[in-house]
Amino acid sequence: MMNREGFVKWLENNTDISSYSIGSYAGAIDTLSSELENYGLNAIKNLYDVTDTAIIDNILSNPEFKLKNNKGNRMYSAALNYFKRNIEQNNDKEFQGDLLIEELEFEKYLTEKPADVSRGNIEEKPKEKSKHRTVNNQKVWSRNPRYASNAVANAGYLCEIDNQHYHFISKFNQKNYVEAHHLIPMQYQEQFDCSLDISANIVCLCMVCHKNCIMECLRIRKRY
Ligand SMILES: [Zn+2]
Repeated sequence: MMNREGFVKWLENNTDISSYSIGSYAGAIDTLSSELENYGLNAIKNLYDVTDTAIIDNILSNPEFKLKNNKGNRMYSAALNYFKRNIEQNNDKEFQGDLLIEELEFEKYLTEKPADVSRGNIEEKPKEKSKHRTVNNQKVWSRNPRYASNAVANAGYLCEIDNQHYHFISKFNQKNYVEAHHLIPMQYQEQFDCSLDISANIVCLCMVCHKNCIMECLRIRKRY
């Protein structure tokens, strides 16, 4: 969860703004936070709760805000743009953390129970969404490592980008080492009626292709 203190720390660590200006920017966010209804954002109690940068863009383009901003020598838009960058970085961290958890869970499953699924042995039907918990105002959807395990077994433990990609043999199951990747990432679950945590949405990738996929996901996310 973000707060004033976190934003001040972030400005100190990521910009070369003077401490006087940092104080002004944090004050600007406090002020805007108390005036959100002026910009048509009655449902939001506190700017520090915002994790969607579209809401910040919304304020920046609001005529009422523009008027105030011009009177204040554009201090408010400068503060909001820094604030937006802070949110973006937090979201990236959250996303990377999510991917890490996914991999760790899968690794754990492999250690405990090597998959035993023969090729073409997966029944795919639409499934209900899995459960989620809420972290930092964002939903984290639970995953069943068995589906990941089934998907990689079904792919014959070969990289689905190029089945000639061999790196090393997994010590857990003595097969070609591969990783499971959700093609449509789990954090978009909210936008779908059925579960994304099914074998059909999981691809089997070698560690190099998996890393490239993760980096590409992060690049795409930065763009929006
Ligand atoms: Zn590969």
